[in-house]
Parts: sequence; structure tokens; C-alpha cells
Amino acid sequence: MALRVHIDGSVLGVDWSKIQTVFLDMDGTLLDLRFDTEFWTKTVPHRYAQEHGVSVEDARAYLNPIHQRESGHLNWYCLDFWSKTMGFDVVELKEQHASGIGWRPEAENFLRRLRASHCHVVLLTNAHPETLRIKLEQLALEHWLDAIYTSHGFGAPKEYRDFWERLQVHHPFEPTATLFIDDSESVLASAEAYGVSHLITLRQPDSSQAARSVTTYPAVLHFDELYRGLPDIG
Ligand SMILES: [Mg+2]
Repeated sequence: MALRVHIDGSVLGVDWSKIQTVFLDMDGTLLDLRFDTEFWTKTVPHRYAQEHGVSVEDARAYLNPIHQRESGHLNWYCLDFWSKTMGFDVVELKEQHASGIGWRPEAENFLRRLRASHCHVVLLTNAHPETLRIKLEQLALEHWLDAIYTSHGFGAPKEYRDFWERLQVHHPFEPTATLFIDDSESVLASAEAYGVSHLITLRQPDSSQAARSVTTYPAVLHFDELYRGLPDIG
């Protein structure tokens, strides 16, 4: 891919008249990735250490290489895989901490505007079905969406071409009239390779981390940068 770099403020504006379908990622896009970061980097290693009688450092030393190896693959998102790997119920642990799940700034307002628009709005997530269930119980995302798909149902994460081909079969869409917003640039690259024309990433998926100033794809800090051309809901 040719080098394309977007620096702060280089974006944006969407010509909404050209968009029929909006695909939205969940974690780090609509929802604050802070919950997931804390869960996987603090809560899980602490629980592992407790469960196996080792130090938190030893737990991290064991878990980090597995995280690196599985990153970008379906196992990385799979709670069954992690429960088996760690020897305790990760779903239960996630449920215990679910109160930390929260929206990104302006995400609800953006969904409200999209709902009032001509666009078909679909959630595409790599989250495990149990993670999705826990998040939907906390925040009523489905209220704003025409459909929800988790890549586990397609047997391939969004990083793989198979995902897009299988999605197209289940939920036909016109790639050139589709806007896809995802905080993962490797996921956006996969969508681009499939032919999705309009791609946007997020500068601050995780509110506990600094905003990214350089991105490969056009980026917004918050969704209000995309409101022009959408119905004003007052
Ligand atoms: Mg994400």
C-alpha cells in the first residue's frame, strides 16, 4: 500500500448523499476501549495470579506472548479460548466488571443522527458473542442499529477477506456506497482491500490513552466532526 499519512486536523467531512450503508465497529469506536484495556491488562493478569498462586509479573510473562501470537486472529477475541488458556471463567469475570463499560464521547448522538438519516446502520464486531451480550446488557446499542454481526458467526475476524465475503452473502451491500468506521487500521485495510470506499478511523479509541496524531486512514477525534449533512436532531 502506498504511504498515506493523515495528521491532526487533516480530515474530513463525509458526503452523506453517497453513503447507503454505515458499518460501525463496537470496541474503541462506539464504546470506550478503556474497559477492554483495563480488563485484559489489569483484571485478567491479577485474577490469573490469584488463581494459580503466582505473581502478577509472572502472570503477565505467561500471558503476553499468547496475546501477541493470537493478535489479529479469532482466538484473540474468543472468551472460550481464554477461559481454557487461563483455567477460569473469563465471561464471569467480565460480567463482574461490566459496570466499567461505557460510550465514547458523542457516540450516542452520532447513532441518533444516523437513525434519523437515510443510512442503513450495521454493527460489525470481532467481539465474542458473550462479550457482545454483556455489552448490550449494559448499553442498549441495538436500539440504534439495523443489524449486528459478530465475526465469530462467520468464522473469520474482520482482518480476513473471508469475513467480508461471508458478510456480503448474509447481508448484501454496495462497497462503493459504504462507510466503515473502525479504530483498527488493520481492519480498515482489510475492508479497503475488499473494496469498501469510505473508511474512517478514531484518534482516541481509549480515553485512558493519548490521542493518536498520525493515522493511515482519515481520522476523527469525536463523531461530531461527521455531523454535517446528517439530520439535526436538536
Ligand atoms: Mg475496535
